[in-house]
Amino acid sequence: MTKQALLSWAEINLDAAAANVRALKQRIGRDVLLAAVVKADAYGHGAVQIAREALQNGAKWIMVNRSVEGVELRKAHISAPILVLGHTMPDEADTMVRWGLRPTLTQPEQAQALSRAAEYYGKEVPVHLKIDTGMGRLGVFPTQAIDFARAVSQMPGLALEGLYSHPAVADEASESDIAYTRMQFERLIGAREALRQAGYAISICHFCNSAAAIKYPEMRLDMVRCGTALHGFDPFSGQKDAGTIELRPVLALKSHLVRVEVQAEGSAISYGRTYVTPKPTRIAVVPVGYGDGYRRVLSNRGFVLVRGQRAPIVGRVCMDQFMIDVAHIPEAALYDEVVLIGSQGSECILSEDVARLVDTHVNEITSALAPRIPRVYLKAGLVVETRILAGEDLP
Ligand SMILES: *Cc1c(COP(=O)(O)O)cnc(C)c1O
Repeated sequence: MTKQALLSWAEINLDAAAANVRALKQRIGRDVLLAAVVKADAYGHGAVQIAREALQNGAKWIMVNRSVEGVELRKAHISAPILVLGHTMPDEADTMVRWGLRPTLTQPEQAQALSRAAEYYGKEVPVHLKIDTGMGRLGVFPTQAIDFARAVSQMPGLALEGLYSHPAVADEASESDIAYTRMQFERLIGAREALRQAGYAISICHFCNSAAAIKYPEMRLDMVRCGTALHGFDPFSGQKDAGTIELRPVLALKSHLVRVEVQAEGSAISYGRTYVTPKPTRIAVVPVGYGDGYRRVLSNRGFVLVRGQRAPIVGRVCMDQFMIDVAHIPEAALYDEVVLIGSQGSECILSEDVARLVDTHVNEITSALAPRIPRVYLKAGLVVETRILAGEDLP
């Protein structure tokens, strides 16, 4: 595989992912289980590769959002416990049991279907109950926890293993947000106590995402669920926070200049003619567009790196291409490597910088990267694996 054979690609630095896992593990301590959250294809990085790297560096559990994501990992021979965090439809019960995936339970209909599937396969399925402590998303309310646990415990084939909830503002620094996180945590602990007194012992209680795991040691309980930090993103979005740890970016996004030409004065660039050259201008074409997950709002706003210098996007980002102004980079030439995310020379564009430009969370930038962007996996600077569309490898 040579990078020259690729039009545009993402580089995934597995050493950086490993370092992030170890940093998180060191921060949370040996008594707390680290779960690597690899939903949405590991936030665009590649679920199988990131899960493997995480498990080799101290993570003990894997978490996904959907059963199909869990099945992908099982097919790649990942045998660690996998918890499906999202809602599973009752009809997915068969898949869950067959592939050994742990479900999040929030509804009796799910539990009944799982119980039937568990009996059919002669298996015992460990389940995790989710409590809605103030996120307003999935879960039962704390007041419903005992009834739900009782119903689940009466169903054959189900073993109540976990209890969890999810913080809404663990990444925020205001007094009221800190109080809210504490309130959510207390509600979860209250539910756990009530269950204990009713005779339902929970072996794995968990609450923290990346931000909470780093910032609130007292909330780590038995296990923490980390995705954002694992992929090298600061869960506090750059707020100066006492809890912040050293994390390394894992993903870079690169391409090649596929046309470099001087456009005459007054030339319209891209759809809508939103940019017209004020003078004869060297314009280069970058073959990445919103069809690759590179956001259209970066039109006339974003920038990339060419020959170690910043070059602004001019005109609209199309589905498959966008154009940049390279008038100030006379060395820029056909097939030059261009960096959309990552570093080149002494310049660097973080995924967070792109996120700020389009006013979103960094996770949205990388998880939107389309499957047609090949993923190139690096260790010690060498390509160890590539993943391209349709799962084929390059000749
Ligand atoms: C996505 C997710 C996480 C991981 O959150 P990060 O902030 O990315 O670490 C943890 N728990 C649940 C339930 C999630 O959906």
